[in-house]
Amino acid sequence: MVDDDRELRFAIIGAGMAGILSAIKLKEAGLTDVTVYEKADRVGGTWRENTYPGLSCDVPSHLYSYSFAPTPDWSHRFSPGDEIQQYFERVAREHDVEQQTRFGAAVTRCRFEDGMWHIETEGGHRDVVDVVIAATGVLHHPKLPEFDGLDDFEGALFHSARWDHDVPLEGARVGIVGTGSTAVQMVSALVDRVDKLSLFQRTAQWIMPQDNPPYSEDEKSEFRANPEQLAELRANLTRVFDTFANAIVDADSPEMKMIAGMCRENLENNVRDPELREALRPDYQAACKRLIISPDFYEAIQRPNAALVTGAIERVEAAGVRTRDGRLHELDVLVLATGFKTDAFMRPMTVIGRNGESLAQAWAARPSAYMSVSIPGFPNFFMLNGPNGPVGNFSLIEVAELQFGYIMQLLEPLRSGERREVSATRGAMEQHEAARVQAVEKTVWVTGCRSWYLDDRGIPATWPWSFDRFRSEMQSPHSAAFEYR
Ligand code: NAP
Repeated sequence: MVDDDRELRFAIIGAGMAGILSAIKLKEAGLTDVTVYEKADRVGGTWRENTYPGLSCDVPSHLYSYSFAPTPDWSHRFSPGDEIQQYFERVAREHDVEQQTRFGAAVTRCRFEDGMWHIETEGGHRDVVDVVIAATGVLHHPKLPEFDGLDDFEGALFHSARWDHDVPLEGARVGIVGTGSTAVQMVSALVDRVDKLSLFQRTAQWIMPQDNPPYSEDEKSEFRANPEQLAELRANLTRVFDTFANAIVDADSPEMKMIAGMCRENLENNVRDPELREALRPDYQAACKRLIISPDFYEAIQRPNAALVTGAIERVEAAGVRTRDGRLHELDVLVLATGFKTDAFMRPMTVIGRNGESLAQAWAARPSAYMSVSIPGFPNFFMLNGPNGPVGNFSLIEVAELQFGYIMQLLEPLRSGERREVSATRGAMEQHEAARVQAVEKTVWVTGCRSWYLDDRGIPATWPWSFDRFRSEMQSPHSAAFEYR
C-alpha cells in the first residue's frame, strides 16, 4: 500500500510476451490497478509483427512457453510463428489481459514528478501511475540498409518484419538480403514456392542442424493425461539449453567445441558442391554470431532454383540488385532480412526521471541498466528484457519471468507503505557494468565476428555469466544495490 492506503497503480508498456506475463503476475499478486498500453490492435509483440513465411521459434515450444501455462498442444518441437501468436492470444484471453489493455495507444512520454509517473500516449491519453514496467521488446525497430537506389526498385520491397502478404510469390524471382535466423527460415520456406530465389550473403553463418518433428496425437494425449510428463520434458529441455548458455560464455569450453564440431560436420556432410561449401563456410567461430538453427537450410540453398550471391551489393536498380562484379540480379520481390536496431528498447518514447534527467541523457553513450531491470535516477521504472541481459539461443520467457519475480521483491517496501521509490544506485550500476565488461572477454561473442550483440565499442551487450548465475541473482535483489526513498 502507498501511504494513502491504496494499492500501487501500474502501467505496463507493451502487450507482447513480457507485458502479458506482467499483467498476469500482478493480478496473481493482488495488484489489479493496472493498464497495459499497446500501440497495436492485438497482443503478441514480435509474434504479431513477424509473419514471414517460415517463421518459427528456434527455442523448443515446450520451453518457449510460460512456466505457468504449459500446453500439451504444440504441433512441433519448434512450432510455427502463427501457433505461437495464438498461444499468447489464448493465454492473454484466459487471464483477461485484453480487458486491462488499451490498444492503439503508443506511449510517447513518461515523466516522473512528485513521486508518480505521468504518462502520455500518441492519441493524447494521460495517466498517472506509481510504477512503470517497460515490456517493449528488443528486436522491434527494423534496420534498413542504405543501398543506393533502394527507392528505384520497381518490384515489391519490404523488411522481413513487415511482410506484405498481398505480394504473390508463386512464379516470382525473390531476393533476400541477409543470412540471419530470419533469412535462413525464409529460404527454406520459400524455395519451393518461388521461381527463383537469390540469397544475398554478406557474411556466412554456421548452421546447427536440428530436426523439427511434429508431435503425434498420441504424444499430445499423453501430455494431456500426464502433466508431469510435460514438466519433465521442459526440465530436460532446460538442462540442454543451460549447457548451451554456459558454453557460449566460455569460448574454450569442451561444450563449445562440440557445438562447433556439429556445425562443421553439418556443412561438410550436407553441402555437395565444394565451391558452394566454401562460400557458405564462415571464417569465425560457431556461435560468435547468434547460432542459426535449421534442419534444412543447406538442402534449400542447393535447389536448382536457389542461388547464393556472395558479391557485395553495389546498388539497387529498377529491375533488381546489381552486385559489385557488375551483374544485375533481376527480381520481382526484394526482402530485407537485415535485422533490427537493437539499442532502441523503449525509445523513441521520451522518459524523464528524477530531477528532470532524460533517458536520452542517461543513455547518451549506450543503453545500460543494473541487472538489466533498473536505471539509476529512474525510480519505480523497470524493464523486462532490458539492456545487457541474457540473450542467445534460449528462452526469453524464462528471462522475463525471473526478472519479474525480482521486480516484485523490489516493490515489497512500496506495497507495505514503508517506502515510495526504488531504483538502483549509480555505484551498483557502475560496479555491475565494470564486472560485466570484464567477464565478456571469455565469451564466444568476442572471438572475431560482427554481430548485433556488439555495442558501439565492440563489447557484447549481453549477460556474460552462466544462466545459473542469472537465476541465482534474480532470486533476491542485493538491498545495498538499491536506493529506497
Ligand atoms: P540479424 O541476425 O541481425 O541478421 C541481419 C542480416 O542482414 C545479417 O546477415 C547481416 O549481415 C545482413 N545485413 C544487414 N545489413 C546489411 C547490408 N547493408 N548489406 C548486406 N547485408 C546486410 O537479423 P535477423 O535474422 O532478423 O535476426 C535477428 C534476431 O532475431 C536473431 O538473432 C534472433 O535473436 C531473432 N530471431 C529469432 C528467431 C527464432 O527462431 N527464435 C527467428 C528469427 C529471428 P552481416 O552478418 O554481415 O552483418
